[in-house]
Amino acid sequence: MFIPRRCGLCVEHCPNWMYPNQLSILAENEIYDTIEDEWDLWDCIECGICAYVCPAHRPIIHFIKQAKAIVDNM
Ligand code: SF4
Repeated sequence: MFIPRRCGLCVEHCPNWMYPNQLSILAENEIYDTIEDEWDLWDCIECGICAYVCPAHRPIIHFIKQAKAIVDNM
């Protein structure tokens, strides 16, 4: 089965209408100013659904938690 790089399943399932795919990519690349100002980092309730549904098993919730910890200490 072909799974595109950004399938969007996490976006479909996020209960808070967020973009976990974008959040995780920005966090992974340490782009913290954008993740806070433009992608509403703090709206994430850390439910973990995005990571659960990810067919690529990306540790999305790990990236989000890490970004919150870093931004909180900036
Ligand atoms: S952990 Fe955050 S980004 Fe992921 S599905 Fe839950 S609210 Fe959305």
